[in-house]
Amino acid sequence: MNDSTRPGKIVCVGRNYRAHAKELGNEVPAEPLIFLKPPSSVIRTGAEIVLPTVSSQVEYEGEIGVVIGTRLSRVDEADARRGIRGIVALNDVTARDLQRSDGQWTRAKGFDTFCPVGSEVPAPADLHSLEVTTRVNGSVRQHASASEMVFAIPMLLAYISSIMTLEPGDRVATGTPSGVGRLDVRDVVEVQVAGSLVRNSVAAAG
Ligand code: MG
Repeated sequence: MNDSTRPGKIVCVGRNYRAHAKELGNEVPAEPLIFLKPPSSVIRTGAEIVLPTVSSQVEYEGEIGVVIGTRLSRVDEADARRGIRGIVALNDVTARDLQRSDGQWTRAKGFDTFCPVGSEVPAPADLHSLEVTTRVNGSVRQHASASEMVFAIPMLLAYISSIMTLEPGDRVATGTPSGVGRLDVRDVVEVQVAGSLVRNSVAAAG
């Protein structure tokens, strides 16, 4: 991927669907739980997700990704909504064992190839109409609607903008629904959101 298409940052939201928080034994947070993935983790469709040797439990997390169009700093929800440039399918690939053992999620979420992102499509007028579907080897593993989110997209963007300025091209990953699961070598995982699809095979390191 070249630098002109690499986002400045990827802000992610954790535990934003009740059923997913529950499946991992967590409560839904009282306010959005956010973390970052590094721009160096981004790959496009067709590139391989590489399993790091230090993890034995790498999992997919299909998510609705938002692409920022205008600079957002301490905005309200209406301005946040107007600042959306597009939508992408995004896979927040996670080394679940390292996420549990580290406490901080930077390593578990930050390996090279751990952020497959699909091509950008226009945002629909009704953001609640967005759906995310994850398939592994052709079988549907996750399927949910944005209407099931604990915190809706404009609220998330306004909240994040109260902490850090969102710049054009930044991506926001809005959380994964229930159904997360393990990836093994030679699996093919795809995440679809509206007309954006990202499909990647899984490879061993080295
Ligand atoms: Mg996630």
